[in-house]
Amino acid sequence: MSSSYKPKNPRPTTGRSVPVRHSPPLKRPPVSADMNQPLTLRTQLLVLTVVLLVSLLLFAIVYGLMVKFRSSAVAAPTGTEKSVSVPSNTESTPSVPEYPSFAPDQESSSEASAEQEESSKEEESSEQEESSKEESSKEESSKEEESSKEEESSEEEESSKEEESSKEEESSEESSLSLPDYLQKHEYQIVDTDDQHFGELILVNKEHACVGNGTMLRSLMDNDDRHYALTDKTVSLNQEVIADFDRMMDDFYAIYGDTDIMVACGFRSQEVQAGLYRREAESVGEEEAALWVAPPGYSEHQTGYAFDLNLAGHYGDGSGNISYENVPPYSWINENCSRYGFILRYPEGREDVTGFHAESWHFRYVGYASACLMAEYSMTLEEYLSFVRRYTAEDPLVVFTDNGSYALYYTEATEYAHTSVLVPSDYSYTISGDNAGGFIVTVSLDN
Ligand SMILES: [Zn+2]
Repeated sequence: MSSSYKPKNPRPTTGRSVPVRHSPPLKRPPVSADMNQPLTLRTQLLVLTVVLLVSLLLFAIVYGLMVKFRSSAVAAPTGTEKSVSVPSNTESTPSVPEYPSFAPDQESSSEASAEQEESSKEEESSEQEESSKEESSKEESSKEEESSKEEESSEEEESSKEEESSKEEESSEESSLSLPDYLQKHEYQIVDTDDQHFGELILVNKEHACVGNGTMLRSLMDNDDRHYALTDKTVSLNQEVIADFDRMMDDFYAIYGDTDIMVACGFRSQEVQAGLYRREAESVGEEEAALWVAPPGYSEHQTGYAFDLNLAGHYGDGSGNISYENVPPYSWINENCSRYGFILRYPEGREDVTGFHAESWHFRYVGYASACLMAEYSMTLEEYLSFVRRYTAEDPLVVFTDNGSYALYYTEATEYAHTSVLVPSDYSYTISGDNAGGFIVTVSLDN
């Protein structure tokens, strides 16, 4: 039977070239449909090779871009020294490295924005790829287009796999925590996720509404030994703020013997803010009013952490008040307020970030460590919060001040009713919401 076997395929795959070589050369007809076939196949192979090479080249470019963006995104926050010496005297520290300037709200998270950049770049480059492919494949057959698209999709798969693997690395790093010394003994504090809207570091501006209606409010009248005036007895602030404000004004009085500072405005209710905004809008128009007075619900004065200063008693009978000016001796307050946990919330030249005209009289409480850092690097609250969000319990921001060192780190709020925040067991700490999706832990490292 085997001798009568005839292969079904008339051209065996093992067919050597020998018989072909010895057969007489075929005379090719000048134009033949049959003879065109091998020629087209060769062209197809050639074009496929070219497409493959172009794809590889483009992939190399895209990969190079990704690596570049990844490294630059990493270099910005961590390239600078994490341990920053921040003396309370804000006048001279030339040796301290400068943090880069951040555009707030554009990057609520630097990594997220870097990823966005990456993805947008990828999109751009893949668009470019496609368009260049289209140009080059105009003459190609539909079969070839299909194959080039297959290549593209496999490229995308590769790059997405790379991203996945890098994310896996990150998460595996998180799972095996290598915590700093002061967190070696730690626990998880379970906080209400809604508390992200409360605390001395909450961001309240035109994009971030004030959720609460003032917390732990007290009248400033309660302090009988105060060295400042009040517009009326209703002026109230968060009680932590009052304690530090009293200390600041005691020190100011000890130096200058001046009691002309007047707290013109502290906490404002929603109704008071609404009336103020309406009157301002009627007076100067809505557009201009928005640069001076926040719309109801969006004023820092509704937090109890902010206040305005005036100067009292400059008109003989003591009844007249004038605007607070950042001039001696009162400039001392603006220059030293960070040592008491306050910042000048709307500084000159930062209107584009804060959304408000500069106000040398509007102060905001943020706590000592944060105020020192913000003063040292001239950061607005918007910029500072964007900055702190880059630091984790594993890799915190360490601040050295005249009054001890502090570690700060960020914990993102969960979507659940509670969020667990990692805190030290043996060190005192505070947790504040940022009113923008998370919590900031400030650990005092000196106890
Ligand atoms: Zn104000």
